[in-house]
Amino acid sequence: MLLTYGSILVSIVIFVFLHNLNKKKVNFGVRVLISMFMGITMGAIFKNNILIIEPIGKIFVSLIKMVVIPLIVTSLISSITSLESPQQLKKIGLKTLVLLLSTTGIAAAIGILVANVMNLGNGIQFAKDTSFQVKEIPAFSKILIDMIPKNPLASMVEGKIIPVIIFSLFVSVGIIIEDSKKTEAIKPIKDFINSFAQVMFSITKIIINLAPYGVFALMSATAAKNGIATLIPLVKVIVAMYIASVLHMILTYGSLLTFVAKVNPIKFFKKLYPAQVVAFTTQSSYGTLPVTLKTLTNRLMISDKIASFVAPIGTNVGMNGGGGIYPAIVAIFVANVFKIELSFSHYLLLVTTTVIGSIGIAGVPGAATIASTVVLSNLGLPIEGLAMVLGIDVIMDMVRTMINVTGASVAAFLVANSEDEFDRVKFNNDDKENYNLKLA
Ligand code: ASP
Repeated sequence: MLLTYGSILVSIVIFVFLHNLNKKKVNFGVRVLISMFMGITMGAIFKNNILIIEPIGKIFVSLIKMVVIPLIVTSLISSITSLESPQQLKKIGLKTLVLLLSTTGIAAAIGILVANVMNLGNGIQFAKDTSFQVKEIPAFSKILIDMIPKNPLASMVEGKIIPVIIFSLFVSVGIIIEDSKKTEAIKPIKDFINSFAQVMFSITKIIINLAPYGVFALMSATAAKNGIATLIPLVKVIVAMYIASVLHMILTYGSLLTFVAKVNPIKFFKKLYPAQVVAFTTQSSYGTLPVTLKTLTNRLMISDKIASFVAPIGTNVGMNGGGGIYPAIVAIFVANVFKIELSFSHYLLLVTTTVIGSIGIAGVPGAATIASTVVLSNLGLPIEGLAMVLGIDVIMDMVRTMINVTGASVAAFLVANSEDEFDRVKFNNDDKENYNLKLA
């Protein structure tokens, strides 16, 4: 009891401290980083007693989720209706899918490589977890059919991004067609949607400002719940996931940014950082979306049009971490635990199924488990093996989500660059004022 009161008291002191940092105009990213480390420390010290402040983290996550759907619908429609032509839309759409899916394939290959080099799963005994239930895998055709919104309002209520995007695209195309015929008649709806989007941006700003407090509560709860005991036997799997993620960031994103977009990748990552931290701590790329959008437009200097089109799709298609690296690592781990020999053609199949399986994963915590189930069953590997890594899923999910958000942002950045929708001068401008450009 005493420890619970103690943890409340310390948390209040930390909140006041974080508030003061804000008043002193300390950079947003620095404040979030401080709150993250303080959260981990408090979780380790107070253990489960700190869980009393977990609701603050949950409220923060709910608040960002609150704006996701209205923000996407309005910002997508208002952006698309500013596009010159439906052809432009087709071109951007194709580029987006190619980028998201090809980077997922590369991510899976890196996962396979790291898992093999580290010989994951060898020497580990299969431990049966009776609470594990094999989830039913939806057929690929069903995934495709489910992407079409048969009831757009229901899709919005259920927070299904792809159907919502498709509906918004239809509305946008309708507006563009009608606009070319009778501009006056269409003006009210365009104005309404533009103003609505403005209001949603404003709400997003308010919520993002709460990030340091939410992140502190989320991190302390995560650190408290995942004590050392759950980690030790599977440390190697965690290390493999983190190494593969770092490699993917450096090799894949690093080269795409350097050679294709021709920007300094370090500068890119420094600017993307607020979105990465929120992704890491909330484990939901869907929930991070408002922050991702703001980061893309306000810090990475790409147009609203491209950001609001590519980033939401990236929370459901080709997620590099959860749809690429992770299922590949799990597959190698399970094969080794069950002493199943994999050949080169298995690896090719693994990369292909990973890419296909990465279409339509939801950007919510733990979603990669489903992608992994699809991959394991396609390869004929025992799905029960997945149960062994479920205990460490949160720790894996953090880095997975961070990579998912990074991948979507890199894709958005590259599309923007190729469409001349990226302000290179502002991006490169290093004077402090601009570099620290407030996220909110
Ligand atoms: N939590 C991840 C996301 O929201 C999905 C996953 O990797 O499980 O992007």
